[in-house]
Amino acid sequence: MAVRNEKGSVSIEAQNIMPVIKRWLYSDKDIFLREAVSNACDAITKFRMLHPDSEEAMTVSVAVDKEKKTIRISDTGIGMTDEEVRKYINQVAFSGASEFMKQFEDKPEEKGDIIGHFGLGFYSVFMVSDQVEIETLSSGEGAEPVHWVSEDGMGFEISEGSRKEHGTDIILHISEEEKEFLELWKVREVLNRYCGYMAYPVMLEDVNAKPVEKDVPVGDEKNEDGTPKTEKVMEMPKPQQINDTAPLWLKKPADCTDDEYKSFYHKVFMDFDDPLFWIHLNVDYPFNLKGILYFPKLKNDFGTHEGQIKLFAGQVFVADNIKEVIPEFLMLLKGVIDCPDLPLNVSRSFLQNDGYVKKISAHITKKVADKLNSLMNTERETYEGYWDDIAPFVKYGAIKDKKFYDQVKGSILLKKTDGKYSTIAEYRAANFDKTDKKIYYTNDEKRQAASVKLYTDRGIEVAVMNTLIDGNFMSFMEYEGSEDDRVSFARVDADIDGLKEESEEGKDLDAEKLQKLFRGALGKDNLEVKLESLGDAGMTAMVTEDEQMRRYKEMSRIYGQNFPMPDSFTLVLNRRNETVRALAERDPEDETTKMLCCQVYDLARMAAQPLEAGEITAFLERSRKILNMVAKG
Ligand code: ADP
Repeated sequence: MAVRNEKGSVSIEAQNIMPVIKRWLYSDKDIFLREAVSNACDAITKFRMLHPDSEEAMTVSVAVDKEKKTIRISDTGIGMTDEEVRKYINQVAFSGASEFMKQFEDKPEEKGDIIGHFGLGFYSVFMVSDQVEIETLSSGEGAEPVHWVSEDGMGFEISEGSRKEHGTDIILHISEEEKEFLELWKVREVLNRYCGYMAYPVMLEDVNAKPVEKDVPVGDEKNEDGTPKTEKVMEMPKPQQINDTAPLWLKKPADCTDDEYKSFYHKVFMDFDDPLFWIHLNVDYPFNLKGILYFPKLKNDFGTHEGQIKLFAGQVFVADNIKEVIPEFLMLLKGVIDCPDLPLNVSRSFLQNDGYVKKISAHITKKVADKLNSLMNTERETYEGYWDDIAPFVKYGAIKDKKFYDQVKGSILLKKTDGKYSTIAEYRAANFDKTDKKIYYTNDEKRQAASVKLYTDRGIEVAVMNTLIDGNFMSFMEYEGSEDDRVSFARVDADIDGLKEESEEGKDLDAEKLQKLFRGALGKDNLEVKLESLGDAGMTAMVTEDEQMRRYKEMSRIYGQNFPMPDSFTLVLNRRNETVRALAERDPEDETTKMLCCQVYDLARMAAQPLEAGEITAFLERSRKILNMVAKG
């Protein structure tokens, strides 16, 4: 059956869409290579399904001809008949895209938000071409080769083609503005990104390559020094294979070695450190999901830690970090996820609400939680060794995803000042009968060392909460968890509820008088002064700052709101302490008494946090005066 020559217009949809494609995708033109190469791979798959016994080597070749200004993408696939070209190229080329356009008729602001610009397929080649030719020969019996050509994706001409073997060539005549795509390095870079794991060998060829000089051995002859004898010959550079057709994530987990997982990680994420551990996702039912998630070692900068999750659809790279498909907190990890059945030719907002995507996302979350729990339950020591690195991730995940929190709550650890780790339940069991049922913590072990010691001396464990996420995590644990899990946190200098002693000592002191004395000496009329019995009689006083008030202040500082806030300090005097007793008996109007009160207050504050610049000067000056007085007797 001869090819029917025809000149015509492609479908109306195509005509409407072409200008939009050109405009929208301006920033992401390089996907044209992915679309063309993945079509070529699909064509090979189709051929192999029809001819399962074929021994032919199946490859896709991408040949760049800078001189002729073309890129030719050739496959040895199923090819197309005259009729198929009309049907698949001219008519329904926009199966995905035209649907897609309809969704946006009334939501123009969402345009350009197509994930990986899927579904535009073949026509994306017009983003970079002045003219596109197809040379194709169907693998069907007695098929005739077909030639199709179009300048703008809207009008076309069909005639008899010249291809001799089944398969298809797509020849792109690259436009002057896009001539960067005629550079071999550029094409290689784009192919590496999108086609690095496609299922058939993708070969990159430089059509203009010149022969290069090469040393080749001359038979078995040897030089005098025993090295093989070689001669210089001119050789054409061979096309290079771009991709790994059998990526690690598609292998059975049981067949993969630790070394393979590690070297895959190094290669894909350019991270020279080994990952801590990984999860190999391998699901066939009820959906198809493959992938490997790595827990990386944290770098020094907790705050700016960023992972990378590469999303593939059937070995075709889509994009990095697509939050519509992968739970946001997992973005702190590094990994690859391959979901061949993802509906990617739709908008992001659609994906967000899609039940299928939700299931995938929930499955991944559960697998991560399972892995953490299994490490915790079977290799507790190893897990503790990982904790500092994975804590920000687990805590962030708990806050972001209630289900994840419920799954991992038994594996959330508190690091304590003694360097050991407890679960929250273990902390409760070990400490709550000694305190007023709070988790006491420090966010700066050095600065708060004195306050920490008050607790540890009494056998109360102190947790270290010093990463960026901890503030949010503590609030989460206080308000969001289930009633049973809810637990309060107090910094070691927030109150003395956990430190009070039932002692008779100093019960005779007049609390009101002491409050008046300190208020007068410090010039702080509203200062709350408490008289309590503290564990260590040698300790004069403590300054506490209400936990909630302090956090509120810290938050305002973070958000740059610096409006003045009332002091929320309380001065707790130890009624068992001799200095306190002595002060109570001194003349409140005496200058030395006042000076001593100020000194007590400053010392107590310094135990918890540094004084501000002006306050330090005053403190130093006063200290010198006191020294001088004592020295002179
Ligand atoms: P999609 O691949 O999503 O169906 P495309 O616009 O990329 O949409 O391609 C449209 C159709 O053109 C394909 O479904 C296929 O039938 C045909 N086609 C495109 N490229 C090739 C090729 N290299 N070999 C055979 N058929 C092809």
